[in-house]
Amino acid sequence: MNAVTVKCPFPRCGAENDHDAAECGRCGAPVRSYALLSGYSAHLFNRGLAAARENRLAEAHGYFAAVVHWCPSDIEARNAFALACQALGHAGEARDAWEEVLRRRPGDRLAGLGLTRAAAPDPPAPLPDPPPSGAPAPAPPAEAPARSSEGP
Ligand SMILES: [Zn+2]
Repeated sequence: MNAVTVKCPFPRCGAENDHDAAECGRCGAPVRSYALLSGYSAHLFNRGLAAARENRLAEAHGYFAAVVHWCPSDIEARNAFALACQALGHAGEARDAWEEVLRRRPGDRLAGLGLTRAAAPDPPAPLPDPPPSGAPAPAPPAEAPARSSEGP
């Protein structure tokens, strides 16, 4: 899986760090705080969306995981993360994420939908209702309507 890295904000360093590193491994800068302050999580979220749109699901999963890690209260990111998990076949991970969404925002529609779908990943096609026995056959379409009054 593609690891998402965070570049150290100091130009003289610029080291790539793990997305969940609190401090730069080279210079000790608080990369996590800098990333949060600079809106980097929104940037990562958008990268994740772009990756998902292009069907690069593992990459999207990595981006969303980073945002969720940094911003545990970001419901949109967690929902997106769960969707990416599900698309990758990580059903348990997806379920955990959605359950966490519901803990944080009870009644969240997306999470509810996701959990419902996760509980029944392959719903059988709904069968059409059989016609009730003895019901009269539908009336055939009427012929050309009779004209009750002829014009002059
Ligand atoms: Zn650094």
